Amino acid sequence: MNLEFTQEELAFRDTVRDWIAQAYDADLRAQMARSKNGYLDKAGQVRWQKKLFERGWAAPNWPEEYGGPGWTPSQRYIFQAETAAAGCPTVSPMGLKMVAPVIMKYGTPEQKARFLPPILRSDVWWCQGYSEPNSGSDLASLQLRATPGHDEQGAHYLLNGSKIWTTHAQFADWIFCLVRTSKDGARQEGISFVLVDMRTPGITVSALPTLDGPVEGQQEVNQVFFDNVRVPVENRIGDENKGWTYAKYLLEFERGGSSAPGLHQALAKLAKIAADQPGNGDGPEAGRLLDDPDFRRRLATLRLRVTALEATELRIFSNVSSGTSIGAASSMLKLTATELQQAVSELTLDAVGPAALAFVADSWAGLQGRPVPEHPGPDYAAVVAPRYFNYRKASIYGGSNEVQRNIIAKLVLGL
Ligand SMILES: Cc1cc2nc3c(=O)[nH]c(=O)nc-3n(C[C@H](O)[C@H](O)[C@H](O)COP(=O)(O)OP(=O)(O)OC[C@H]3O[C@@H](n4cnc5c(N)ncnc54)[C@H](O)[C@@H]3O)c2cc1C
Repeated sequence: MNLEFTQEELAFRDTVRDWIAQAYDADLRAQMARSKNGYLDKAGQVRWQKKLFERGWAAPNWPEEYGGPGWTPSQRYIFQAETAAAGCPTVSPMGLKMVAPVIMKYGTPEQKARFLPPILRSDVWWCQGYSEPNSGSDLASLQLRATPGHDEQGAHYLLNGSKIWTTHAQFADWIFCLVRTSKDGARQEGISFVLVDMRTPGITVSALPTLDGPVEGQQEVNQVFFDNVRVPVENRIGDENKGWTYAKYLLEFERGGSSAPGLHQALAKLAKIAADQPGNGDGPEAGRLLDDPDFRRRLATLRLRVTALEATELRIFSNVSSGTSIGAASSMLKLTATELQQAVSELTLDAVGPAALAFVADSWAGLQGRPVPEHPGPDYAAVVAPRYFNYRKASIYGGSNEVQRNIIAKLVLGL
């Protein structure tokens, strides 16, 4: 396998670098330095994604006919690696990476024309309504009821029930929802996939606090309640009761993606932090943490694991053409990438030590509505604990890592 880039690919890399240097401005960089999870608040996120759109780079994985840039797998990888290495914001995935591929594959021409362009322009924001209070890993048990009806405006469903852990529902204009349209037969056969306007009467969004503390503009998960919410039948994707097929297709996109470049960047940052922190010895003999043999061993182990993930990502993505999914291999990547994300955040917390306690002061101030105090330690320390706590989520969302292991055993290893 040849992993060297060609001259053309290196020239493309330079074009991307030049663009990032100019588009990823000081204001966006300052916001990202305070981000606990790789996202900005909605205004910042839209500003960044519109810059990508104007350059024609908002949707590297979309086929050209829908506005994708027509890149080769190598170009897509280079773009992802360069944006991650520069520490750029993560693109909000629910529209561009999750519902859009489903609309492209299973939507009607009218649905494609109506929904895809505003997703590409980041004019319309989406959230994902899969999980329910009693249905997470066992998603097929979901119960949000969609009752068919008809009125002067036409055929519709009335939705009743709730969705939970809905990321950024407070920002969303639309939600894609799995709903129960039948209780007959196998559970998977009574599910439909519908698109719901969040402004429809009967929808309430309620914020769920998380252990990474309240940070302004960074509320992450919510519960969404549906009380007789009217959804026109033309907002259903594909056939009634066939939603499970579309839902599974979407999950392959949710779990895919290349993570190694971002992890390499986080490790480089960690090495810089360790060069600034005292070692584990006593007094003036302590030296730098970066020179501590035990720390170096832990850092090197992580670097090796990320490099192995990188080789696997390159191997898998080089076999995938634009607009297609990587199938069950996405479970392998999700599992490894999230374990590494958590391990990097753990070692970073260890490296920063007591300076990470600034987080506690932030959280109390936030909860009590007081201004956040000055941090006693270096600037980089303030977000280390929120990131550490935030990344506990990574082994749960997108299907828990235990469930990914089951999928790998069955579909990749054939056990
Ligand atoms: C930060 C965050 C954001 C999220 N965002 C969204 C979103 O936007 N939209 C959305 O729909 N959902 C979202 N989720 C929900 C997420 O998909 C679910 O939390 C996940 O599927 C697990 O479901 P659950 O929480 O109900 O846990 P459960 O399914 O109750 O699992 C509890 C524990 O049992 C284990 N377990 C369950 N079944 C098995 C099995 N068969 N074999 C082995 N172990 C098993 C699990 O691994 C877990 O450790 C989000 C979750 C988080 C944490």
